[in-house]
Amino acid sequence: MLPQFRLIGDLTREERVAYFSMEIALAPAIPTYAGGLGILAGDTVRAAADLETPLVGVTLVSRAGYFHQTLDAEGRQSESPDTWDPSSSSMRLPASVAVPIDGREVWLGSWLYVVEGCTGYKQPVILLDTDMPINSPEDREITHYLYGGDANYRLKQEIVLGIGGMRMLEALGFRIRKYHMNEGHSSLLTLPLLQRFAYPPQDVHAGEIAYDIPRLRETCVFTTHTPVSSGHDQFPYDMVEHALGDSPELGIVRKLNGQNQLNLTHVALSLSEFVNGVAKRHAEVSQKLYPDYQVHAVTNGIHPGTWCHPRFAELFTAYAPGWYHESAALIRADRIPDESIWDAHYAAKLELIERVAAETGMSFKPEIPILGFARRMTAYKRPDLLFADLEKLKAIAKHYPFQLVLAGKAHPHDYQGKQLIEQLYRHMRELAPHIAIAYLPNYNMEKALALVSGVDVWLNTPLPPLEASGTSGMKAALNGIPSLSVLDGWWSEGCIEDVNGWAIGDGTSIEDSDSHSLYDKLENKVLPLYYEDRPGWIHVMKGAIGKSASFFSAHRMMRRYVVEAYLR
Ligand SMILES: *Cc1c(COP(=O)(O)O)cnc(C)c1O
Repeated sequence: MLPQFRLIGDLTREERVAYFSMEIALAPAIPTYAGGLGILAGDTVRAAADLETPLVGVTLVSRAGYFHQTLDAEGRQSESPDTWDPSSSSMRLPASVAVPIDGREVWLGSWLYVVEGCTGYKQPVILLDTDMPINSPEDREITHYLYGGDANYRLKQEIVLGIGGMRMLEALGFRIRKYHMNEGHSSLLTLPLLQRFAYPPQDVHAGEIAYDIPRLRETCVFTTHTPVSSGHDQFPYDMVEHALGDSPELGIVRKLNGQNQLNLTHVALSLSEFVNGVAKRHAEVSQKLYPDYQVHAVTNGIHPGTWCHPRFAELFTAYAPGWYHESAALIRADRIPDESIWDAHYAAKLELIERVAAETGMSFKPEIPILGFARRMTAYKRPDLLFADLEKLKAIAKHYPFQLVLAGKAHPHDYQGKQLIEQLYRHMRELAPHIAIAYLPNYNMEKALALVSGVDVWLNTPLPPLEASGTSGMKAALNGIPSLSVLDGWWSEGCIEDVNGWAIGDGTSIEDSDSHSLYDKLENKVLPLYYEDRPGWIHVMKGAIGKSASFFSAHRMMRRYVVEAYLR
């Protein structure tokens, strides 16, 4: 016990920003994330560690992970738990706290995972865990399944994350200067926070409970990630009251939001002084959704140390020293000799080709360009856009052969997403004689790195304006991989045509014009450049590093959060 207490003493000495997120991707072997939101949260914590910004991450332990995906020959997805043992990489912390759920006390303990920055700075992440013998079997599972179960289960998880997280930080002695809610899932943390900002009883008129809302708002930061209201968690008040019991604080929240549903995004909006979207365009869209609040834009970035292939890391260290800590140094990418870029890329490509062979038995050819498309399989990401006209696609491939690697999970309840995977499998079968297409099952952090470094072109075709930011294209850019993407999310800021990649459409999407534009760019720009002008191609690879990766970094993002949100 002693060393733990000493460590906690070290961690609680400094005032910290509490960063709450339903999912945080801590490491490839730890399945506490589902997709972009969790990856971003992990990259945020890692960037803060590099910059020695005192933060404490708060999330659920998700012992059963999101899920492990298997696909049968028809592309039908089945899911199994992706369990991990927190004791393998984290330390049990000596505190237990309780939260009220459905009229009982549910106890939670926690684990400490330490993220180490590039200077050795240690950043704590607290993993909340209800799997304690004192709880009923049902309650022990509240923190098991990330995004599992029904609305009731989700509400319980959000009570544990928001209210349990606050109590745990207090029990462990953390001193917090700001609460950063990464998406609305954690916004119930405002209930215990309201208690702390209650005026003393003598200052309050009879029959009223008053809170210093302006000061409370100054301590809260909210980042929204979802550009459609239907994507926000909301619960009927009777369900919330059944779960949490009635309280004056819940009354205040209800009054502020004035609705018959408890919408966690609105709770976070109404009680945060600093609110931001995750790209300029996303902030504009969110501003229209929430005209009563000022929505800032802090464009996402990726953590360079996590998403760089080792061969490119070597090159950057030689030609852009300091990149690991300040990726703006990558503007010097032009200094890197062409053949060094190509050799590093070729090595990463061969690794991917080996992986494709091991997982699917297909033999990809290194001299033929590989397009990559991997992300959450869900309708708005339009994984089928490339396949809108199979005859056209065959004709392009006949003239300029290319190969394609796909990957991605559909949420277990996303019926449409699952159908899309099956649809992709049908296209793959039909195109098999003409185009080599592989689908790698169980997309995760480790596969993502293999893909974003091993392909030649990163493809993204969301339906605007639904891609809040997107980050996989940023990861590809860091490895010299240009994007061919719809102008949405980060790419509407990042794209410089023919310099760091190519735009599909003009950002005002309709299905037809987008697929035409996609085929047009592929046939008339991307593939001819690859085959007919290798120095020109490498120039675009350098553009991806120098113009995209230098800017779309989690270090730049974290510096902005510190200056504009945390020091506010
Ligand atoms: C980066 C990443 C994502 C997010 O990708 P988008 O292109 O932003 O959707 C999702 N899943 C994994 C495993 C990732 O590494």
